[in-house]
Amino acid sequence: MRLNLNLPKVEPNEFEFPKQCPREGCPGMRFMPRQEVRKKLVDAQHPEVTAWRCECKQFGHVIRVYPQGVSQKQISKRVNGMAVMLYLLGLSYGAVEIVLNSLGMGIGKTSVYRAVQSVAEQVPGLKREKLLSGYKTKAIGVPAEQALGDLASLREMIHSRRPEDQSRLEEIYLRYANAGKPGRGHKHDVAYRMRNLFMDRWNLWPRLTFYRNWKDEDGKEILDGSNNHCERAIGWWIKERYRSMRGYKQSQSAFGVSRLIAFAGNHLAGGLRLADLMA
Ligand SMILES: [Zn+2]
Repeated sequence: MRLNLNLPKVEPNEFEFPKQCPREGCPGMRFMPRQEVRKKLVDAQHPEVTAWRCECKQFGHVIRVYPQGVSQKQISKRVNGMAVMLYLLGLSYGAVEIVLNSLGMGIGKTSVYRAVQSVAEQVPGLKREKLLSGYKTKAIGVPAEQALGDLASLREMIHSRRPEDQSRLEEIYLRYANAGKPGRGHKHDVAYRMRNLFMDRWNLWPRLTFYRNWKDEDGKEILDGSNNHCERAIGWWIKERYRSMRGYKQSQSAFGVSRLIAFAGNHLAGGLRLADLMA
């Protein structure tokens, strides 16, 4: 199967208010819209969007709230996603710049580089300073009953080990996906542990249940004819090409991109949602 990457969308009318004031150390959680501001955007469809200047209600900090797919950066998440996609397809950073510019999306190769690296850094399992910047709160809005229910479901799934339960695990994982990593010297809180637990089970599920797939009820082999390695050999998979000129310039970058491609390979069925890997 081909790699399947889902690009982030730009929705000019969908505003995502932060769960907590982004100002360092501010516990404010409510925001008052004060003023509409125009924002020029590098995007295929929306050359301009509206942002809101909002006030952190209790403490008066002024913040900007952007529509879905837009950040404080000038380039939309969709264009950044396209850049990452083109790079993974084998283009060099400079070639991605040329293609996108020729389509009217002005992005420099340094920005392409940054987009690729920052997505690669967000692949789960890589050590990094910040898990998802912006979410530092322990409160991720999951009630205790829900958490207990999720753990009970996991127990049941571990007993039945049905391969098709992977999507259930993903659904549960997404509830905790925004749990922030505790700072150095702090204990991991419950939300963060839940996040790791479910991310791990979700990612490993095909392997944990693989033996169940070999034969159906009638004893007939139902093993998929080819696995990821076969697919790569066959050539449907994205090839990690030796990059033109000097290959990967930094080992960290090679490592990150390599992992990103493998991670995308774990999401062939539903597609990898690039937006989840973008801060
Ligand atoms: Zn504030």
